[in-house]
Amino acid sequence: MIFELIFAIKCLQTFAVSGGESLCDVDASIQSQPAHKTRYVMIDALRENESLWNLFTRKEEYNPPALDIHRRFPYYLSKHRDVLEPSVSEFLIRNGLEVEYPGGKRFAVCLTHDVDVVYFSRFQLSYEAARSLRRGQLRKSLAVALHRFSKKINPLWNFEQIMNLERKYDAKSSFYFLALERDDQDFNFKLENMKDQMRDIIDSGWEVGLHGGHQAYNNLDVIKREKERLERIVGREVAGYRNHYLRFEVPATWELLKEAGFKYDATFGYADCVGFRNGMCHPFKPFNLNTNEYIDILEIPLAIMDCTLDGYMRLDWEDAWEIARRLICTVERYKGVLTILWHNTSMSGKELEFYEKILECCCRKGAWMTSGEKIWEWWVNRE
Ligand SMILES: [Zn+2]
Repeated sequence: MIFELIFAIKCLQTFAVSGGESLCDVDASIQSQPAHKTRYVMIDALRENESLWNLFTRKEEYNPPALDIHRRFPYYLSKHRDVLEPSVSEFLIRNGLEVEYPGGKRFAVCLTHDVDVVYFSRFQLSYEAARSLRRGQLRKSLAVALHRFSKKINPLWNFEQIMNLERKYDAKSSFYFLALERDDQDFNFKLENMKDQMRDIIDSGWEVGLHGGHQAYNNLDVIKREKERLERIVGREVAGYRNHYLRFEVPATWELLKEAGFKYDATFGYADCVGFRNGMCHPFKPFNLNTNEYIDILEIPLAIMDCTLDGYMRLDWEDAWEIARRLICTVERYKGVLTILWHNTSMSGKELEFYEKILECCCRKGAWMTSGEKIWEWWVNRE
């Protein structure tokens, strides 16, 4: 098995001399666990703990009393309120789950970007151009107004900029592209026009995955069609998936994604609240309560989405940072994987500053910041 065993240690070197500022309280009982090996154990021990097993399998989502307007199971309907604590992961770690990251990294951060939009709609265009003008940003306002004429001035054609930012922190990430056709809901760009850009992303060592459209999450034909469309254009198999609007049905979506040939999914998180939807801050094989079997796909659960913080949760950026910092520290404590979704449309102003703050903090803590595909490769090779 071959991993990326050589990881740039620039971050560690940079911060080793900074005095090792402690950003989190450390749980001594967890820190004193023996050196971490590379096998995933103990998940079956969960079955003996009914409440944790029900949380892990998301039993309450099998017959939900209601769904939100996008037909999602929202946090506000969940009986499990303690979403910021990964109680299932904690149980597993305390009962023998051993995790070791490449290069001796302490925990992992799975960085992801959903690409819904690369052109402003007419409404957004007027709004953005006017907002930049109001702020005296004449150049930006012009760039917004003329963005369709050149990729170089299009603020949403920012893939190189995102990769350069992540490069600064020795990070890589996944870009999940919508693969829609003109008549599909939320169609914004022709995938064919993204071909060179997607090749650049892949050639640079980042990942291109599928961002399934509105209708994909419960329709195998649609998932397969979109996957084939994307694979035809990038010329390679696509491993990773996230559904648009985080639409997801437990356990059906996992079964369909496995059937379509995906290696992993990164959809499974709440849109209306950050945290750990099934108490896990580690990747896991989902369990289907209907068939009484595990599903052969890896879930890398989503913990933080940009618009959850300032949109759904209505946090100001200061409070948002407090909660993000808490989640980072929690995942560090349990040696887990923190999955972050930051849209390419959130890469300016306060949102960009916030994203960079996450990168800086996780880099300082010695996290392995990488794409979903790299997390999947590492996880399956250690089983
Ligand atoms: Zn989307």
